Formats: sequence, structure tokens, C-alpha cells
Amino acid sequence: MIIGAMNNPHKKLVEEIHLFGEMNFDYLELTIEHPHARPEFIEKNKKEILDAIQSYNLGIIAHLPWYFSLAHPYERIEKAIHTEFISAFRIASLFGAKKITLHTETMSPSIQSRESHVEGTVRSLKALHKEAMNMGLDLLIENLDAKSFSIKEFGRLFSEVDMGMTLDIGHANTTRGEGYENYLKNFSPRIRHVHFHDNLGQNDDHLPLGAGKMDVKKVVEALKAKYDGSITLEVHSEDRHYLEYSRQRLDILWNGKKKYREDQNYLYPPGQEPIARE
Ligand SMILES: [Zn+2]
Repeated sequence: MIIGAMNNPHKKLVEEIHLFGEMNFDYLELTIEHPHARPEFIEKNKKEILDAIQSYNLGIIAHLPWYFSLAHPYERIEKAIHTEFISAFRIASLFGAKKITLHTETMSPSIQSRESHVEGTVRSLKALHKEAMNMGLDLLIENLDAKSFSIKEFGRLFSEVDMGMTLDIGHANTTRGEGYENYLKNFSPRIRHVHFHDNLGQNDDHLPLGAGKMDVKKVVEALKAKYDGSITLEVHSEDRHYLEYSRQRLDILWNGKKKYREDQNYLYPPGQEPIARE
């Protein structure tokens, strides 16, 4: 299991990389998003960004904007959205990412029928998955909630498109979330990436681990039984110490206190303890 963090696109990307590197994350989940992580910006500043990533030996996983429609009823708009996605695929591939995540549709159900919503999602993903594969990327679809795309609808998608998924534990724990256990039960062979954050059981709060109502220990046990891969902590607290705390918490719950202490001793031999962040 490896632990990553996602850049906040409203913050300077290089500063985010330094922060995650100092916190000993294993990889950066690069969300290729407006305003500070648009494809044009990333490409223009490629050297500086890559230098920062390499200075901490961070791996890279990519993420696409969550607010672009996956099943838009207007063909020309769908085409434009695909162009934007493919431009982000190019950046992900340029930076050596192997996995890239996309959210299910978020458009209001009053705009189109459920059937065309599901059909459009399947159609879009079929085309995008093929494009991604041609660029050496494993495109993964992320759960949001049943209003966006239900477990039953995921079943239909996977019967038509042979792709993997990103399980978002926090999203599965909201009012319409259908529960992370159900995703694990139905799709564990397809789960190739995980997003983890806490909430109060209703909304998508993106809280630090332990700050919400989730039984974090139980989640880790359930995950460990079926999964051993990348886990990105999507903690959106403005004070980033909570992200660092969540990293430590997950590390200890997954690997045990003994292993955590050994790693800390290796990283910071006596007399070289890290300086406390302000
Ligand atoms: Zn997520």
C-alpha cells in the first residue's frame, strides 16, 4: 500500500509538491485542473514541476476535472469535453502517470432521462477508455453517489466497458453513497485506486481521518482484506497539518505502530528530527 495526496488546484503546484514531499507522501495525485494546474500551465512549467517531484522521489497518479460532464446531451459539447479530457491525458502521460481517474456524471437529472444519462456515460467512457489506453494510461471511473451513478449502473457499465475503478470511501459514506462495503463486495477485482477521507455520514465533507463519523479502523481492515495499492488522502482542510495527521493515522492503522516507528527512525535518525511545521 502506498499513500498519496492531491494538489489543491487553487494553490501553486510546486509549493504543493514540496509540502507533500516534506510530509513523506509516496506519490502526488496530480489533478489537472483550473486555475493553477491546467494542461497549458503544467506543460509550460514542466521542468520546474518535474524537478520538484523528482527531488522527493514522488510517484505520479493523475486526476481529471470533476465538473466536466461525462454524458452531455449536446453532441458538440460532449466533443469539446472529450478534447479537454484528452489534453489532460497527454499531460498525465508526459509526466509518466499510469493511472488517471474520472468522476461519474454530476449533471442534474432534470436535464435528461436516466436512460440517456446512463447510455451517454457508457458511450463516453468506451471512447475515452480507448483513447487513454492508446496513451499508456489506465482510465479509472470513480464513484460519487447513486444520484450520479448507482452500483447497479456501474454493473451495466462494466459489462460493456472493461475498465477499472477508483473507490472513493468518503463518497460511498454519504446519504446516497450506497456504502464502501457494497463496492468492495461487487467490484473489488476492478478497484485499482482508492480515495480516502472522512465525513459526518451525509455530505461529502472531505474531513481528516477520525474527524467525522466513519469507523476508520474498520474501513482499513475491510480494505486490507481485498486491496493493496495506492490510497490518496483527499483531506480538504485548509490547515494542512490535518493531512499530515491523516497520513500518519493511515500508516499506523495499515502497517502497525512498530513498522511506523522503524520508518520514522530510518527517515529521521537521532539528532535529525524534522523541524515542526508552522
Ligand atoms: Zn475522490
